[in-house]
Amino acid sequence: MKTELDFIQPASQEQFEYSYKAEITNVYPLTGMEKLYQIQLVDRKEREDFTFRPGQFVMLELPGIGEAPFSITSSPVRHGDIELCIRAVGNLTRFLDRVARGTRVGISGPFGTHFPVEKMEGEDILLIGGGLGIAPLRSPILTVLENRSRYDQVDIIYGARRPSELLFGYEYAMWRQFDVGLDIIVDQAEEGWQGPVGLITELLKERIAKGHADRHRERTSAIVCGPPVMFRFVCDLLISAGIPVEKIFVSLERRMHCGRGKCCRCNIGSTYTCLDGPVFDYWSVLNLNEAV
Ligand SMILES: Cc1cc2nc3c(=O)[nH]c(=O)nc-3n(C[C@H](O)[C@H](O)[C@H](O)COP(=O)(O)OP(=O)(O)OC[C@H]3O[C@@H](n4cnc5c(N)ncnc54)[C@H](O)[C@@H]3O)c2cc1C
Repeated sequence: MKTELDFIQPASQEQFEYSYKAEITNVYPLTGMEKLYQIQLVDRKEREDFTFRPGQFVMLELPGIGEAPFSITSSPVRHGDIELCIRAVGNLTRFLDRVARGTRVGISGPFGTHFPVEKMEGEDILLIGGGLGIAPLRSPILTVLENRSRYDQVDIIYGARRPSELLFGYEYAMWRQFDVGLDIIVDQAEEGWQGPVGLITELLKERIAKGHADRHRERTSAIVCGPPVMFRFVCDLLISAGIPVEKIFVSLERRMHCGRGKCCRCNIGSTYTCLDGPVFDYWSVLNLNEAV
């Protein structure tokens, strides 16, 4: 008997319009809710030509089911061999949660603004992520690590509700090998957890006090990705520590649907987060009512 999954096999896909035909080459469970999807553009030339910048997103289409925006979590050096870290929350993502490697999907993009990591060269960088925010943050993290000698002090601060919800735990040891400060905190401990428990802002206060001398703050940039509730507290702390507001970058993942400025679901006034964002400097965010 056919299941709904049969309807997304390659033969049924030609009728759907999308920019690139792609295939899910691997699926790795990360936690109970999130999986890492390795996706390859099928055409070799398209794969090699595909470029993006850290912080940009793609629209992933499951033919017959729908499409949704997802941040590219891999490094741009991998071109059209992209990785997406996806939480199963609703119609499309729960469907995706059940597909196997070899499934054909449509990929459009890349879309949106990016984190200007090249402009941060020569500076200290703080990369701060909360929860699923590590998905968009991992791309600038990997880019900075690949070009580690171009940056001064690099600190990554990541927090999740529980240890079992921490994403990409298998990579932390590798990240630390690149002479970066990596601090992890959870809201609630679980058995076996020996790290700090509390809010991400507590770690950030310590890190700012310890690692960043006053003379460095003017030349520190910060990238913040996480739930909206986190932005205000984290960014206020960064500003009060002397980090210039225009050097703080956030990714606003509002209720975006079409990703192309057509459906008017993600706009804040005349600003469309899909076209003008999702990455904004915090100065711009402060001038957008209701953004955080
Ligand atoms: C620029 C951008 C980048 C994103 N990157 C990622 C990513 O890397 N990984 C990831 O797992 N998710 C990411 N998301 C969120 C992702 O697009 C939604 O989870 C997805 O659209 C849900 O689709 P669905 O059909 O499964 O859920 P639906 O059936 O549409 O909805 C299920 C539930 O999720 C809520 N929801 C739906 N869409 C959104 C949204 N855009 N924001 C907040 N809540 C929503 C609904 O209110 C509902 O409660 C990103 C969103 C944006 C705008």
